[in-house]
Amino acid sequence: MAPITTLRDWLDRLAATDRLAVARPGVGLVHQLAAVANRLDGHKASLFPRPGGHAMPVVSGLTSDRNWMAEAMGVTPSGLLARFQQAAANPLPCAEVTTAPVQQVVHRDGIDLMRLLPIPTHNELDSGAYISAGLCLSRNPHNGIQNVAIHRLQVNGPDRLGVLILPRHTMSYLQMAEEMSQDLEVAIVIGVDPITLLASQAIAPLDADEMEIAGALHGAPMPVVKCLTNAVRVPAHAEIVIEGRVLREAREEEGPFGEFPQYYGERAKRHVIQVDCVTTRQAPIFHTIVGGGLEHLLLGGIPREASMLSHLKRSFPNVLDVHLGRGGVMRYHLAVQIRKRSEGEAKNIMMGAFAGHYDIKQVVVVDEDVDIHDPTEVEWAIATRFQADRDLLVVGHSQGSRLDPSAEDGLGAKMGLDATRPLTAPPLKFKRIAVPGQDAVRLQDVLEAGAATGWRDRL
Ligand code: MN
Repeated sequence: MAPITTLRDWLDRLAATDRLAVARPGVGLVHQLAAVANRLDGHKASLFPRPGGHAMPVVSGLTSDRNWMAEAMGVTPSGLLARFQQAAANPLPCAEVTTAPVQQVVHRDGIDLMRLLPIPTHNELDSGAYISAGLCLSRNPHNGIQNVAIHRLQVNGPDRLGVLILPRHTMSYLQMAEEMSQDLEVAIVIGVDPITLLASQAIAPLDADEMEIAGALHGAPMPVVKCLTNAVRVPAHAEIVIEGRVLREAREEEGPFGEFPQYYGERAKRHVIQVDCVTTRQAPIFHTIVGGGLEHLLLGGIPREASMLSHLKRSFPNVLDVHLGRGGVMRYHLAVQIRKRSEGEAKNIMMGAFAGHYDIKQVVVVDEDVDIHDPTEVEWAIATRFQADRDLLVVGHSQGSRLDPSAEDGLGAKMGLDATRPLTAPPLKFKRIAVPGQDAVRLQDVLEAGAATGWRDRL
């Protein structure tokens, strides 16, 4: 199948395969919508017509399964990371157009975000309504190269958004603008296809436009159109664009907000976006990502896996696959599958992984016969191939995630577990038991349907 390029095409695909749940009109925007979306998380995407009486519908849970993401990209699940790596290495420049569906309707005067858009409130202690699935596009003020990132956006006023900008690429462009005594022009893009969402989370260098990675994944240049009030170029087929500026001087209270580790990100003074214009399609669809749900975790996890796999393979070509598990919030706990060549190598690989991303807190290294996507398999490898006095590596007082509440202001420990077989073990000692023909047997050829109630007659 060809890669999915618009939100509406993806909703069609989900609907045709019984993976889109449609709510009765009028589900409440405060907690009620998130409650339903969370109950369906991992099973179905959800569509909410007239949420809280608002004319604009909301969708959520577009990619709450890793296999769906592979499907949207037109690859098999085992080919997901390789495809993403290939696209990240071979970005495709965007194609500028002059008219776009996303600019069919224009709101310039008297902007009131809560009236224009059905912006939900998700978790219990969230400070209020948040735009959580907005791609924040900004431009390097020196060379015009764009960046894409998702920042949480709190509604601070009718035309003001509070924004958490961590010290990454948007922050770099903002600092450049500040040095020129300018605000940073941005566009918040809501309602794109799952591939563009995933590409926005690529671990790419500064001045690598994530929209070009989306184009590579689509297999066609992303059509983009210039914003009406600034120079940012936005995807032409998106549902909604909020044009504005990150103000260089203003700071307002933002948070708390339910984040991916299943805890709240703290309240503090943050940057502010002044909204200048809102453009939409005719009858647009609003997308929301419920904080801490699978959609949230997978969008961050898959690009991290792809970059970690590339990083490790450079030093260790015998690394076969990596996986960031759900229990480790798809950020902190990494499983690495290797074809072991020498003793001690697993510990070098652990150190490589810790160096690859500061979020990584635990690394388990296993052999090629262990399925790293199955937490039970990984636990079995630890149970039968690992001894703590011999195979455990602990590194204290190192940099970790600031959102990990057990860390002290981002300072924490790393733990590595070598759960690989010793190369010198006798052949039978670590050989997994197996019944010949188990995978190949066709049960329908062997079993007699409906015979169970008459089992005595079959004796
Ligand atoms: Mn970037």
